[in-house]
Amino acid sequence: MCGIVGYLGKEKALDIILASLKRLEYRGYDSWGFVVYNGKKIFLKKVVGKITEAENIAGVQNGFVGIGHTRWATHGKVSENNAHPHFDCQQKIFLVHNGIIENYDLLKEKLLNKGHKFNSETDTEVICHLLEDYKKKFKNLKQAVLETLKELRGSFALVIFDKDNPELLIGVRLASPLILGVGEKEFILASDLLPINLVGQKFIALNDEEIVFVTKKDFEIKNFTNQQKLYLFQEIRWGQEDIEKGDFPDFMIKEIFETPRAVRNTLKGRLLSDEVKLGGIELLGDKLNKISKIVLTGCGTAYYAGLVGKYVFEELTDFQIEIDVASELRYRNYKFDDKTALIAISQSGETADTLEVIKEAKKKNIITLGIVNVPGSSISRIVDAGIFTYAGPERAVASTKAYYSQITALIMLAIFLGLRRKLSRSEAKNILEELKTIPEKQEKILNLESEIIKIASDLTKSRSMLYLGRKFNYPVALEGALKMKEIAYIHAEAYPGGEMKHGPLALVEHDFPVVFINPHDSLYSKSLSNIEEIKARGAKVITITDDINCHFEENFIFVHHTLELLTPLLTTLPLHLLAYHTAKLLNRNIDRPRNLAKSVTVE
Ligand code: GLU
Repeated sequence: MCGIVGYLGKEKALDIILASLKRLEYRGYDSWGFVVYNGKKIFLKKVVGKITEAENIAGVQNGFVGIGHTRWATHGKVSENNAHPHFDCQQKIFLVHNGIIENYDLLKEKLLNKGHKFNSETDTEVICHLLEDYKKKFKNLKQAVLETLKELRGSFALVIFDKDNPELLIGVRLASPLILGVGEKEFILASDLLPINLVGQKFIALNDEEIVFVTKKDFEIKNFTNQQKLYLFQEIRWGQEDIEKGDFPDFMIKEIFETPRAVRNTLKGRLLSDEVKLGGIELLGDKLNKISKIVLTGCGTAYYAGLVGKYVFEELTDFQIEIDVASELRYRNYKFDDKTALIAISQSGETADTLEVIKEAKKKNIITLGIVNVPGSSISRIVDAGIFTYAGPERAVASTKAYYSQITALIMLAIFLGLRRKLSRSEAKNILEELKTIPEKQEKILNLESEIIKIASDLTKSRSMLYLGRKFNYPVALEGALKMKEIAYIHAEAYPGGEMKHGPLALVEHDFPVVFINPHDSLYSKSLSNIEEIKARGAKVITITDDINCHFEENFIFVHHTLELLTPLLTTLPLHLLAYHTAKLLNRNIDRPRNLAKSVTVE
């Protein structure tokens, strides 16, 4: 879950490593560290605290090679010693690691018995000492890496630097992401795409069980048994402004405001008047005809996007639909049959649990589809086909714009598959016409910020809240509550509106805040009755609605009317803003919520 980086090339390793760590910080931020080498001297830094405070780099000179790490601890407390890079007894071999070494305790015991001295409590450090032993034995670093890998169990991406081989940087990937960026006589290795354009736009996403040996002039990619591997160059599609905060105080609010653009990008080039063009999915041809069941999966916000997808698929297709969070689905004794297709949703394309469900499904030979934001990511490469959401880089830990793009992609996919089954062209046309108006309607909601801030200021003293919605807007309630927990640290629970009488109504007392999402849809009047019941018990109800008469309500946020199945694309937006502004008023660290990191690449 942490971020790793390595650089080899020109005399600017320190600058590149620090800039990269800032970009990777969202992946883990409890501590950080780097090693830079200038041909004469090694500069090693490990810090608990903010990245690149001036005193932390005082006295460090630039070099031509370096590695860096921003940590999200799995083994060993947050401390300077446990921060990466870790090193061997001779302090020659340095490495950074993303992932977990599952058999580290056995390896550590053996290494301690051989007399190795450990400097940290991490699982990672065993790798340094194994490399030290094998380097001594084979007098060759590459061989030492290959031998060491045979001993490791778990998931890892590594970047390795050895003072005895300073013009060689080694990257290894097994079940944790690693990208090689290729510039003019300079190379960068990183956990994701964000640092890559510090050297250029060209990149190669490594596959599992691949090693890249990078020198100042060139690189080669091998597998774990030392055989040459072919690779594919890809190009980054976004620019500098997409990954910087600009005038916004936090990435999260910048990304909320990028929602209309994200949705436009997801739709771009894919809509015809009464059908949808999905190049990747079309390639599956006849295989699509045998599907009768769809299983959706994802984690966190992506799962809630999937839940909206479930209702959409049920509306537009005749598939049987199931959905579960990936961390449950992967351990259930779920019976995938050959008429099932799996749709996996992930912003990063690296979510460990989601990836495992796909692998399981592939073993059973069922069709796997991905809805992913990051090109070159693991999920995008292992699924049979998929849709890139093109929401642009998302850096805030709490996902926002990617969610709208995921729902948009799911709606397009449902129309695409529906047209091959029960959906008529005129129905498709009607939905597509309305879908095109969504970004504009979202822009109008973004103009309501000041009203939302007023409502947020009333919530700052709340210790607990309820979010309610029905049908398409039940997942919206779940997503709204998740954001409130995630960044404002206010306990928020979501329920289907119709379930209140079965328990949660007991929680309602005078002034208890309840957010009810109630656009004019097929359950509108039923939800109105639910609202009355809650109000009668003294709750303070905040309504999200497209009802023009809503100004009779004390607290409401008005969203424009749209088709029922598209409402989540509008009704979630006020809830994202509400969580953001409540958190802001509470002075929370919004882009770095406590205990959380983005891109959950460990289980
Ligand atoms: N297991 C390593 C540690 O605890 C790396 C953690 C990570 O990938 O975030 O330091």
